[in-house]
Amino acid sequence: MRIGLGYDIHRLGADRPLLLGGVEIPGAPGAIAHSDGDVLIHAVIDALLGAAGLEDIGTYYPPEDPRWLDVSSRKLLRETAARIRESGRFTIGNLDCVVILERPKIRPFRDRIRANLAADLNLKPEDIGLKGKTREGLGEVGCGEAVEVYAVALLRRLPDDQD
Ligand code: MG
Repeated sequence: MRIGLGYDIHRLGADRPLLLGGVEIPGAPGAIAHSDGDVLIHAVIDALLGAAGLEDIGTYYPPEDPRWLDVSSRKLLRETAARIRESGRFTIGNLDCVVILERPKIRPFRDRIRANLAADLNLKPEDIGLKGKTREGLGEVGCGEAVEVYAVALLRRLPDDQD
């Protein structure tokens, strides 16, 4: 088995909805980003790529590339899953994620977010761990100026992978 860790942070304040796992979160300003700013999916993609021994999200989807302007992060997640499947080396086991957002609470959106991630990765919702935390008012995240996410992903080697 192989594990990967992903992290991402975005400033908040864009005049659009905050997206987490493809779900609009009312009550928070949107993420400032070149893409759709889905900080959760960005962390998950980096966790998956890291576990697979691939390059990072910025290598495959450079923010300065106009192709990724406002692109759906769910599309990038599906592409990442396909990249891992097509390597023929791994299957995706499970994810666990921590979203740090001062407000609102993400629990009411948890099941929809898990369903989206499970659908894009061809997993079951119970294979997607998702916890919401606050920063207890401390720092930029605690002031509501940013959202950050940590994610880990576990891949299983396929039996014919020799490395
Ligand atoms: Mg990002």
